[in-house]
Amino acid sequence: MALDPIVGEPKHDRYDVVIIGGAMIGSSCAWFLSANPDFNGRILVVERDPNYAFASTSHTNSCTRLQFSNEINIKISQFNAEFLRNFRDNLGGDPDIPDIQLHEFGYMFMAATEDGAAVLRENQAVQAACGAETRLMTPAEIAEAFPFYNTDDIVLGSYNPSDEGYFDGNTMFQWWRRKARENGAEYVTNEVVAIGRTGNRVDSVTLSSGERIEAGLVVNASGPRASATAQMAGLDIPVEPRRRYTFIFDVEQKLGQDLPLTIDPTGVTMRTDGAYFMCGCPPDDDPAVAYDDFYLDHAIWEDKIWPALANRVPAFEAVKVLNSWVGHYAYNVLDQNAVIGPHHEVGNFLFVNGFSGHGFQQSAAMGRGISELVAYGVFRGLDLSPLGYDRIVSGTPFLEKAII
Ligand SMILES: Cc1cc2nc3c(=O)[nH]c(=O)nc-3n(C[C@H](O)[C@H](O)[C@H](O)COP(=O)(O)OP(=O)(O)OC[C@H]3O[C@@H](n4cnc5c(N)ncnc54)[C@H](O)[C@@H]3O)c2cc1C
Repeated sequence: MALDPIVGEPKHDRYDVVIIGGAMIGSSCAWFLSANPDFNGRILVVERDPNYAFASTSHTNSCTRLQFSNEINIKISQFNAEFLRNFRDNLGGDPDIPDIQLHEFGYMFMAATEDGAAVLRENQAVQAACGAETRLMTPAEIAEAFPFYNTDDIVLGSYNPSDEGYFDGNTMFQWWRRKARENGAEYVTNEVVAIGRTGNRVDSVTLSSGERIEAGLVVNASGPRASATAQMAGLDIPVEPRRRYTFIFDVEQKLGQDLPLTIDPTGVTMRTDGAYFMCGCPPDDDPAVAYDDFYLDHAIWEDKIWPALANRVPAFEAVKVLNSWVGHYAYNVLDQNAVIGPHHEVGNFLFVNGFSGHGFQQSAAMGRGISELVAYGVFRGLDLSPLGYDRIVSGTPFLEKAII
């Protein structure tokens, strides 16, 4: 499905809600809010990059999992799985909306030390209590179920085949965007360059074209630029762009079954990707980068990724790289978790930022959460308050141990 083009200027000089950023998260927020029968205000979505060339949304791997260490992150992804399975009905039943593909190859977390295994055991207990089918596997059990792995250096694995794998988040994004617009949310191609603030309230945004738009409430959905956007209102959020690499490769010797999304103890990830395979990893030196820095350090393939692939799956000794790209995580330096909700003092500035690599699968819950905060002032479906801004103020991390 091609993206619907955005043309035109804002039709009004005042909106009840201005959403800064119209990619996955901004569009989910726009759709949930525009579809909420208890909200009938005007919504403006401002997007600086209408082709989303620099957005995390365009560089994602679009996978979802229940294997997190925090109950709230597990519940968020359970909601995602339920929402995408009924996507057409959830969006009103338009017969043009396709089924959303979910390829459940599962995630396989692997630990090579007793300390790593202890973390997997703790996480599995939390996941099981939430109803996830995660099971711990000895090296022998792993080798029996997935004979292509080398498990010589593995102490324990953690695998869940349900509600985990690739989902077609890009199609969800495009339909959220289209349906939000049909519901009356306005999208404009423009850049917010300033945010007006009087005391403890934001009251306007200024666009790069010069217009000043009055805003009842501002939602920061600007991805890796979250900090720059917050600073326009004199506010802080510890989110920075960090590079993440993805490679697509093919092999001569196929595995005969799906490769789960494997989190190798080296930090390298690998998985089935249609007829091919996908892999990636964070760089060892992982600084914040400039918003337009998408440099791909090819040495990482030779030095880190390929050796890890060949060690874990001997059939990956001989591989052919077909494609590669760099994307930015909106990395929450405090605790690698989302931040959703109002600033503690400036209550009409809402954050929905800092996803640190798991924002695609959190988009449905985040859109619904923002819609609830705007319409009712509180969360109703899922209590997302552990992910609120208060912990940023107090510097108290709400740490997620299962970050990829
Ligand atoms: C390599 C990689 C792999 C990933 N894999 C997964 C995965 O498997 N599963 C998962 O759940 N998540 C994954 N993620 C994370 C996921 O892609 C992101 O969390 C998600 O796309 C974030 O969406 P967003 O809308 O917040 O940010 P973005 O997609 O970055 O969108 C922000 C938008 O705001 C716009 N904007 C910024 N500032 C302004 C301004 N001042 N005015 C107007 N517009 C502005 C930008 O142009 C941009 O389009 C991955 C990310 C990467 C990079």
